[in-house]
Amino acid sequence: MTNNDHCIFCEIVKGEVPCNKVWEDEDFLAFADIYPVGEGHTLVIPKKHFVNLLDLDEENSRNYLNAIKTVAKILLGEHHADGFNLSLNNGDSAGQIVKHTHFHILPRKEGDTKRGLILG
Ligand code: AMP
Ligand code: ZN
Repeated sequence: MTNNDHCIFCEIVKGEVPCNKVWEDEDFLAFADIYPVGEGHTLVIPKKHFVNLLDLDEENSRNYLNAIKTVAKILLGEHHADGFNLSLNNGDSAGQIVKHTHFHILPRKEGDTKRGLILG
């Protein structure tokens, strides 16, 4: 998909599909993954539709990491975690299912179920 026709994440941004929101600012939105692989599994997306990470414009590229750090800090606090996994499936061969780029954040703590990186 090269445009945002019927993009589920664009529909979430527009409020047409519900989500369990964790955080947002003007340009980014974080919400709970609907099929969490572990407690606190969260997605961070740019509100503007970009298919994959390499499509991001300059401004979103610059600001994405700060948004991810903000969300990670919230998740560490909320889930009493001391670590997290961060991953992104980029392209079909990498297992990208939703064609609106998104990072996965999975809070981790000592002794939790060992999940490691989320791969598609
Ligand atoms: P991937 O594109 O491989 O990173 O996988 C897409 C991810 O989006 C999966 O972890 C899904 O569980 C998640 N997902 C798909 N639809 C929704 C939705 N409506 N709300 C929250 N998470 C979703
Ligand atoms: Zn989209």
